[in-house]
Amino acid sequence: MKILIVNAGSSSLKYQLVDMLNEATLAQGLIERIGIEGSKLTQKVNGEKNVVKSPLTNHIEAVEMMVSALTNNVYGVLKSMDEISAVGHRVVQGGEHFTASAVINEEVLAAIDANCALAPLHNPANLMGIRACREIMPKTPMVAVFDTAFHQTMPAKSFLYGVPMDYYKRLRVRRYGFHGTSHSYVSKRAAVMLGRPIEELRLVTCHLGNGSSMAAVQFGKSVDTSMGMTPLEGVIMGTRSGNVDPAVLQFIMNSENLDINQMLDILNKESGFLGLSGISSDMRDVEEAAEKGDKAAQIAIEMLYQGIKKYIGAYAAVMGGVDAIIFTAGIGENGWELREAVMENMEFLGASIDKEKNKVRSQEIDVSMPDSKVRILVIPTNEEIVIARDTLALVGNTDH
Ligand code: ADP
Repeated sequence: MKILIVNAGSSSLKYQLVDMLNEATLAQGLIERIGIEGSKLTQKVNGEKNVVKSPLTNHIEAVEMMVSALTNNVYGVLKSMDEISAVGHRVVQGGEHFTASAVINEEVLAAIDANCALAPLHNPANLMGIRACREIMPKTPMVAVFDTAFHQTMPAKSFLYGVPMDYYKRLRVRRYGFHGTSHSYVSKRAAVMLGRPIEELRLVTCHLGNGSSMAAVQFGKSVDTSMGMTPLEGVIMGTRSGNVDPAVLQFIMNSENLDINQMLDILNKESGFLGLSGISSDMRDVEEAAEKGDKAAQIAIEMLYQGIKKYIGAYAAVMGGVDAIIFTAGIGENGWELREAVMENMEFLGASIDKEKNKVRSQEIDVSMPDSKVRILVIPTNEEIVIARDTLALVGNTDH
């Protein structure tokens, strides 16, 4: 049984074809610059890359391009799209409506649409991807998997903001949290690695990539997370500011004569590593500059270390202890320097890192000292497999 996973952005579309028999990736693709000059598709099969360049004006044309790449008789992997049993779509904002993944029908589409106001940068693009796939593959069942669903177990004391309750009641202003598929996946893997039931574990999961979020996962459920109503809150990120005193916005806007959209653009796209270092949004570039003595780069990195430390301490306190701290995503999996620095002086918490063991990239491994009460784990995330598994679970095995 083959499942296609689609992650549609406003001008891009990522896809992956998975054979659920052994969860092997058959093909992986990225379509870029949809609706912009220079559209192209890059597809990887068994490490071999193929690039197709052709103008794309919308997501329907992008999906057609994906279909012809997947079924191409030279470098494709399918004879026909009928071989695909189901499509799993990543959807960023599920709001309070979705506490789990859902089979896509008109009602589900309307509910995703209703959440567009909460995630104007993401949900409309996700919807365009879903609609385009339904148009091109009208008979194939589809499932929506939400970044927010895993965090719907948070109690009100974690998800409410200290603003008048009316805003929550009328507008659903609250913390939703994101990267749910990743936090959920690594929590379950941690339980397997530790050989203990997830129902008795208190975990802090650190998803550190271009976008970063931390979560407190108590007994298998998310009880708090650092991203908020949007993915802007929390630790500093590639281009996002993370936490800022909201009054700073008014001050900058008044001083620089900016409107709120310009201000939010700055916080979303020109802040974080990029804005602080003036060098790059990419951790590797900032690390390289810091090593060469660039002060601003050094401070940006130290701010991220400190931000992560603060959340670990806070979440350990909230859960009454912590059994394991998990590092995942681009920086969490690869950046051993970051893991070492974040875990420095955490012995008071019962956590000590094995500095030698920790010098690994992208491996599932326990990097804590043998006597460390708190286990420190590196777990490569796999959001695609969560989407594929959820899709399979919801549509059933309809192999043909
Ligand atoms: P996204 O949020 O876009 O999925 P990723 O999870 O791929 O992002 O993470 C991208 C980040 O991971 C970048 O900041 C990149 O520099 C960082 N990264 C990748 N490899 C390394 C490495 N070897 N050392 C430190 N950071 C790394």
